[in-house]
Amino acid sequence: MFNNGTRLADVDANYVAADLDRVITTADEISDRVIEMAAQIDSDYAGRDVLLVGVLNGAVMVMSDLSRAMQSHLTMDWMAVSSYGAGTKSSGVVRILKDLTTDVLDRHVLIVEDIVDTGLTLSYLVENLKGRGAASVEVAAMFRKPAALTTAVDVKYIGFDIPNDFVVGYGLDFNGRYRNLRDVAVLGKHMYS
Ligand code: 5GP
Repeated sequence: MFNNGTRLADVDANYVAADLDRVITTADEISDRVIEMAAQIDSDYAGRDVLLVGVLNGAVMVMSDLSRAMQSHLTMDWMAVSSYGAGTKSSGVVRILKDLTTDVLDRHVLIVEDIVDTGLTLSYLVENLKGRGAASVEVAAMFRKPAALTTAVDVKYIGFDIPNDFVVGYGLDFNGRYRNLRDVAVLGKHMYS
């Protein structure tokens, strides 16, 4: 319970409306799309166990929803990488902050990512996991920005292509906040400029 009596489940973009510019994807649209993505992944991985590798912290929501919408046998592991500092621009350097506990040798790996912007983080991760001898490495990302369309990284499963704005919600943060928004919204420029 919050002080004003609302439950966590009631928290949505309305509660922080003054911080946000506009909602671009509602919670309902996200959950419908996750179910479609899960069905496609199940069909593509039929008969094979898949290792879902979630990229912390942003992918916690999509990992949680996608994995529960899937019917394939799956295991989950997590990596934490850093390409962004405390701000809205990529630093351009990817560092592993937390590595997998699973050996990916001969495993079918599906990287689960919140958003692809420049594609830098993902291209690093894909090459890194292939280098460890994974049988296959594919990517599922909930959101993709236009810049990612011109990078070499192949994202097999995409939730939504979105405009080139800084967005928050559904796991995506700004300085640690807003991850618990159910909707995804463009952060108001007055919050960081
Ligand atoms: P890339 O390496 O593709 O440029 O960036 C990927 C990472 O940057 C994402 O996993 C996410 O953490 C962060 N990122 C990129 N765009 C956004 C955005 O619009 N909002 C938030 N909150 N994070 C973003």
